[in-house]
Amino acid sequence: MAAQGEFRYESYCGLYCGACSLLLATEAGDVSKIAADWRVPEADMECFGCKSSKVAKHCQSCDMKNCAEKRHVETCGDCPEYPCATLKGFMLDGWPHHVVGVCNLETIRRDGLARWLAEQETRWRCVCGRKFEYYQANCPACGRKLRDSRVEAAELIAEKNIQIKPRAM
Ligand code: SF4
Ligand code: SF4
Ligand SMILES: [Zn+2]
Repeated sequence: MAAQGEFRYESYCGLYCGACSLLLATEAGDVSKIAADWRVPEADMECFGCKSSKVAKHCQSCDMKNCAEKRHVETCGDCPEYPCATLKGFMLDGWPHHVVGVCNLETIRRDGLARWLAEQETRWRCVCGRKFEYYQANCPACGRKLRDSRVEAAELIAEKNIQIKPRAM
């Protein structure tokens, strides 16, 4: 396992890393199942969040992360180019949690990062107290129905008239 690091739940693109399966597995101290499913080394799967010192390998090469770091912006929402073609392409690639992520940037711009992060801590926690992931439809602890990313993205697509449909999962 990686050395202890500080978890960071926010990202540049608006995704809430605190609901990512890799971060939650890292937090739980066991990424072995995800690493086996993805067929990659465990060390490449461990992630303390997009802005942390230990980022999962596939997210280290993220265009938005690398661009935002070069531009020294807190999020893409603070960039003069926002919303750029890269960000729009990410939002429209068919993954429901990407729609949610980029739409989060509007909330962060309006309310500030600290308030948004506090809201996300509640949004991604079942009433029983268990944290859950983007695509968990039911709480892994108590079985309650959850508001997952597919539901949230469908609401945003309808509300904002976004011209995509979430990919079937
Ligand atoms: S793998 Fe990517 S999306 Fe998941 S917590 Fe790490 S940086 Fe965030
Ligand atoms: S150019 Fe696009 S990807 Fe780069 S920081 Fe600005 S909004 Fe983000
Ligand atoms: Zn629960």
